[in-house]
Amino acid sequence: MKAYQDMTREELLNERNRLSGLYEEVKAQGLKLDMSRGKPGADQLNLSMGMMDVLSSKEKLTGVQGVDCRNYGVLDGIIEAKQLLAQMTEVPVDNIIIYGNSSLNVMFDTIAHAYSKGICGNKPWCKYDTPVKFLCPVPGYDRHFAITEYFGIEMINIPMDENGPDMDMVEKYVNNDPLVKGIWCIPKYSNPQGVVYSDEVVKRFAALNPAADDFRIFWDNAYCIHHLDFNDRCEILEILHECEKAGHPDIVYKFCSTSKVTFPGSGIAAMGTSKKNIEDMKKQMTVQTIGHDKVNQLRHVKFFGDFNGMLEHMKKHAAILKPKFDAVLEILERELGGLGIGSWLNPKGGYFIAFDSLDGCAKRIIELTKEAGVVMTGAGATYPYHKDPHDSNIRIAPSYPSLEELKKAAEIFTLSVKLASADKILETK
Ligand code: PMP
Repeated sequence: MKAYQDMTREELLNERNRLSGLYEEVKAQGLKLDMSRGKPGADQLNLSMGMMDVLSSKEKLTGVQGVDCRNYGVLDGIIEAKQLLAQMTEVPVDNIIIYGNSSLNVMFDTIAHAYSKGICGNKPWCKYDTPVKFLCPVPGYDRHFAITEYFGIEMINIPMDENGPDMDMVEKYVNNDPLVKGIWCIPKYSNPQGVVYSDEVVKRFAALNPAADDFRIFWDNAYCIHHLDFNDRCEILEILHECEKAGHPDIVYKFCSTSKVTFPGSGIAAMGTSKKNIEDMKKQMTVQTIGHDKVNQLRHVKFFGDFNGMLEHMKKHAAILKPKFDAVLEILERELGGLGIGSWLNPKGGYFIAFDSLDGCAKRIIELTKEAGVVMTGAGATYPYHKDPHDSNIRIAPSYPSLEELKKAAEIFTLSVKLASADKILETK
């Protein structure tokens, strides 16, 4: 089929009528499908059920250093949990803190600490007369943006390309404006595009010369081992080490969790950072908690044995997820390829596919899919303040529905894209 822009008005009107007919047929089926959030499917959760059997009342719940995991004590995590997550996020054991069940929670607390008390003795962000600022690579993760919005931090959009954020812009802001205090990054298999930061981008991050002493890179490594194909996996430069080499050991906080490894909401989370930052974070932690859930830490360690065990486990996730991603990508290509009404990247890992429609179509596409029974992430969600300046980015989350449901949902999505795009082009033809 011809690209929509190349059709005559009459050809496009005919196509539009054909699409309308198909759409009404789909609507009449009364479907209820959900492609909105990046939740693992039940079959993925089943992969971790063995974790429920690794501890029992017959055993001593004692860590390798003799810690009784049933009791209070050990603020920053049992050593074996540190070893496991240190390998996962590629930092030395001395550079990690194990937290509770959620890395997003750790990010929120880290910003709350900076806001109310200040990072490493710096002025608290709440004490500035004008709001402090955060750089937000876009499209990005809505829950990151929700945290900075909650604290009244001004968010600045930074465009992404297939190598990562626009580093010219990042350098300009970070190196010149002392009110710029942080940047949200998802360096590997980014949410939502699946972008993997190039070596050059990582090196430029490490070489930043921030105007603010308390500028920090919030390096959210949520998808560090979430490859779709272990024979075609991406690795990136390790940022903490690069920052040390560049003489800026304190400018990064790395976050990770086992949420999409075992059970979301019941995993373990960690931060990897410099010793100075660790001491700073611990000052808050000692007031905040007597210690996190060590029984859960022990459960995770016993289930995986070691980091290799974790990687073997991730291969099982990949075996479930890859066919789902392949199905969506195949339908996008088959239904939309060559029509000139949308673009997307083929991710090699993570949980999402990002779709870019013609300008001004995303909201309408989401409305159309909703009316036809498919719930998608809201248009605008991938931008700070929910404001997508082009109204074009849509996040597709293929993990939760079954393969059959997913195929139906993807077909309804592509039909909605075609309808909305035909209408948009007809406005000016
Ligand atoms: N960071 C990113 C980039 C995510 O996509 C998600 C989950 N969707 C999280 C963090 C949440 O992680 P957690 O469950 O550890 O809070």
